[in-house]
Amino acid sequence: MYDVLVVGSANADLTVRVDRRPGAGETVLGTDLVESAGGKGANQAAAAARIGGRTALLARVGGDAYGELLLGAQRAAGTDVTPVIVDGTARTGTAMIIVDPDGDNSIVVSPGANAALTPQDVAAAKDTIAASAVVSLQLEIPMESVRAAASAAEQAGTRVVLNPSPAPTADLAPELLSVADPLVVNEHEARQLSGLTDGTPAQWAQALCDRGARSVVVTLGGDGALVLDADGAENIPGVRVKAVDTTGAGDAFTGALATRLARGDALPEAARFAVRVGAAAVTKPGAQPSYPTRAELEVLAP
Ligand code: ADP
Repeated sequence: MYDVLVVGSANADLTVRVDRRPGAGETVLGTDLVESAGGKGANQAAAAARIGGRTALLARVGGDAYGELLLGAQRAAGTDVTPVIVDGTARTGTAMIIVDPDGDNSIVVSPGANAALTPQDVAAAKDTIAASAVVSLQLEIPMESVRAAASAAEQAGTRVVLNPSPAPTADLAPELLSVADPLVVNEHEARQLSGLTDGTPAQWAQALCDRGARSVVVTLGGDGALVLDADGAENIPGVRVKAVDTTGAGDAFTGALATRLARGDALPEAARFAVRVGAAAVTKPGAQPSYPTRAELEVLAP
């Protein structure tokens, strides 16, 4: 029924640019507020849907204007939002983002309705999980709900793409790591979760496979990605673009990767495609508003 079911978060991104970040007790003036659709789960769903993947999202939003904004963005991308739960008792999750002139972000996330996505919600979506080729998971919803989704997917024979972000403070549960096929990590997450203080992306990926991951993709920003699966390691070169805003690039990559895996690509092939989607996403501001369609991707140099 679906190529990709994303089980995860949806946030309204509230962004203000400042000349310099305020210190404790200080007030600074910023630019006009920009409200846009974000949240790692919703981002990955939008990325998958925009490149043509049959995509659904299981998430919780509040019964407020930000919830409407997020649902509208998903519908516009082409995501089936039937599984999204509108929670009349919670506020939609928000990310308050300040961006300095160097493009560096400081972000405060208020999880809101995301914190109320329960294992029971996941259990109620069991048939949808079973009817999807790939389930894509991140860590912006309660950990027990992520684990419930992983285990339901494993029981149904549905492939799991796991993006352990934001990086957990404790080790990932072994039963979560062992269903990841692949585990998708950026360099920071790869180093932290591998337990290696130095080393190379290939060494971090190998350490994560040794700990149980079925396969690993380390995203390397402008340098592309490193893929490790049963066939060995492969470096996927980056695509040279003028980077304007890297917000949500990793989510664009992961949504695209999940779609191509669902369509039957081998991991290196899917990663080569996802690197191009990630590169396209950094050429425009914002998270979801920057994600390319298939047609927009064609004009990006291979
Ligand atoms: P995250 O956003 O999770 O930190 P990365 O920075 O590794 O992850 O970026 C994810 C993907 O986005 C990369 O694999 C690449 O495809 C693309 N990307 C990110 N930054 C750039 C850049 N400066 N130029 C080209 N592509 C980029």
